[in-house]
Amino acid sequence: MSDLHLLSEKLNNREIQLLDLLRQYPLRIDQGIWILSEPPKNLVENATNNVYTINLKALSTLEEKGLTEKQNNEIHLNHLGQKVAEYLQKVASHPQEKHNKQSTRQELSNAKLVKSNEMLELYRQGLSYREIGNQYKITRERVRQILDFNPAFHEYLIEREQAQKQAKAQAQKEQSEKKRQQQLAKSIIALYPERVAELWDYEKNAALSPEEVGAGSTLLSPWFKCPIDGHSWQKRPNYLTTSWSRGASGCPKCAGRKKKPESIVQNTD
Ligand SMILES: [Zn+2]
Repeated sequence: MSDLHLLSEKLNNREIQLLDLLRQYPLRIDQGIWILSEPPKNLVENATNNVYTINLKALSTLEEKGLTEKQNNEIHLNHLGQKVAEYLQKVASHPQEKHNKQSTRQELSNAKLVKSNEMLELYRQGLSYREIGNQYKITRERVRQILDFNPAFHEYLIEREQAQKQAKAQAQKEQSEKKRQQQLAKSIIALYPERVAELWDYEKNAALSPEEVGAGSTLLSPWFKCPIDGHSWQKRPNYLTTSWSRGASGCPKCAGRKKKPESIVQNTD
């Protein structure tokens, strides 16, 4: 028992946490770290972040200390690892069975961590402080304190916040793309592609694109240019599209020419 005690005292919090996890499930390293429960769960999502590196280092320490063995990419506790993990678990359940002051403090801390990790797992599953407290017959405030002491809890909060931010940004992006698509569907170019190709005055409209202008818009008066006489004029799209629907270009000069001589039109310009 004292050998187990000595071994367990040399482990840091992360290593104890992983040992306790391995006591329950093997782990697999594969584009992240997987807990091989049924069904498997992600411990660390991808192999590019700090959390992955920290966990990998702790796993390699456990292997160096002779507590685990690796086959292919799967990590299991070996016999000794199993003993140490069980010892830590036992200490967690009975923290009062102690040898001396120093080890008591360490073991209390280990015990607290194992318990905290159990609570963290429940918290990750979506249970509230109060619901976790009900399981352990302690207050929600005590649950909060026990979790607060655990570095893994704070890591989880950061990860969760980042995930929420990402999800929110993604939703906003999708929303604005949807709005853009709706706008585009009602645009002058979507509804009257031939007329716009024929008449849109790209030079004078400068930065304004026909994709941004609604076919029924009464707010803007873009420039249009007649391909027959080169006349350029401004019109609100909602007026112009009425001419287009009748089959006319809407060019005021061409319209005038049909009715009266050009000289009269020029005099009225
Ligand atoms: Zn014309």
